[in-house]
Amino acid sequence: MRKVLKVLVSNRMIILSVLGVLLYLGISQFHISLWYILAAGVLLGIIFGKVFCRWVCPMGLIMEMMMSLSPEGKIRQMYQYHKIGCPIAWISGWLNKFSLFQIKLNTESCKNCGICDKKCYIVAMEPVKYSLYKPKMEKPGNSYTCSKCLQCVASCPNGSLKYKI
Ligand code: SF4
Ligand code: SF4
Repeated sequence: MRKVLKVLVSNRMIILSVLGVLLYLGISQFHISLWYILAAGVLLGIIFGKVFCRWVCPMGLIMEMMMSLSPEGKIRQMYQYHKIGCPIAWISGWLNKFSLFQIKLNTESCKNCGICDKKCYIVAMEPVKYSLYKPKMEKPGNSYTCSKCLQCVASCPNGSLKYKI
């Protein structure tokens, strides 16, 4: 299962590109109602948390491409924009706390190496508030901004982080 997750995470941009273009074509050529897209985004949010933005959304694809061209300071601005702009992001971000799948830490096997935190853009933005492994700090996976890139889970060398029910 961990191998599958690693393959998915390392190919996330390809998956996002394919699904994003398909969704765009579905809306523009086949006139799929935005209400259906909203319902699908919320359903995905209930099961997986805020996966829509970084795995499915054509707008998310454009934003990621722009972010990859931007200096560090722009990343935060783009995320702020995303928060304001999209009802799927509002709802599924809120659902990060309650979704069936959650990012879980096994404190017994964790070696406190910190690799997971180095991969997380939320920790990079607010290192004094968030950590995936440090006790007493807020878990970024529960925050509104976590778009389930799952870099943290894929990067843990000994499988101490899992994305599971
Ligand atoms: S999935 Fe992990 S690395 Fe990605 S934003 Fe959420 S907590 Fe950070
Ligand atoms: S990468 Fe894994 S072992 Fe290292 S601190 Fe994070 S959870 Fe612990």
